Amino acid sequence: MNVIDLHVHTTASDGTMSPTEVVRYAKKKGLLAIAITDHDTIEGIEEGLEEGNKQGLEVIPGVELSVDFPKGTMHLLGYLIDHTSIELVDKLTILQQARSERNLKMIEKLRGLGIEIDLSEVKETPEHGQIGRPHVAYTLVKKGYAQSIQDAFERYLRKGGPAYVEKFRLSAEEAINVIRAAGGITVLAHPFTLNQSQPHEFDAVIGALKQQGLDGIEIHYPEHSEGQKKHYRDVAQQYGLLITGGSDFHGLTKDDVDLGEGYGGEEVTYTIVKDMKIRREIRLKGP
Ligand SMILES: [Zn+2]
Ligand SMILES: [Zn+2]
Repeated sequence: MNVIDLHVHTTASDGTMSPTEVVRYAKKKGLLAIAITDHDTIEGIEEGLEEGNKQGLEVIPGVELSVDFPKGTMHLLGYLIDHTSIELVDKLTILQQARSERNLKMIEKLRGLGIEIDLSEVKETPEHGQIGRPHVAYTLVKKGYAQSIQDAFERYLRKGGPAYVEKFRLSAEEAINVIRAAGGITVLAHPFTLNQSQPHEFDAVIGALKQQGLDGIEIHYPEHSEGQKKHYRDVAQQYGLLITGGSDFHGLTKDDVDLGEGYGGEEVTYTIVKDMKIRREIRLKGP
């Protein structure tokens, strides 16, 4: 068995298992390595590494950064990062501050609409993860301002809605640079969320990212069809990019996606980690 999972969330962002629990679960499932890739935070890495040492399971320090991409959702994964890198920690701090400010602005807008809500109530919700729109939505439902989470989004919080506040995001180039500054490898996560309907549009996006320093594409992903995988694989080959994969595990709650196998049978092997390490080694040595 040399199965790995390179896309795993913990309670440091929006997963339901703590880093320790995820590592133990990976060990129980017979995995060889996992990458902890929480959204815009490295808070779970240290604990994951410690438990990995205890369990004899390789934990790859990672992060998943949301970057600006108006046509769709672009997430960039950083792997083999030095999670103590000052450049990285500083950037993540800026993102955290922007997140808090956004929450306050949303609450201000809601209050402007005559809704009695304050941050302390939002913080008390049992929703896991960093405070954001789902927590605000939960509070709105609890206080009777919306019928359901979905209703809260539709009425107030959806993009363009009366209480919506634009999210601050890094540009792709900034994200790639900060991952590189931390000695890491950058991989485009779940490319299907870019919403590029035309193959040539997708190819152009990858070409631009490659110019900025992209290292790989996440091809093995539960939501990708065989056709998409083939296309992404061809593009990766064309641009000399690594092929990676992961389940985007958030705990045992989300749509039956399981650690190390996605919806089942989606097995990613350790060869990918070796390839990433070689690529990183070559870069660090320089030309
Ligand atoms: Zn993502
Ligand atoms: Zn993810």
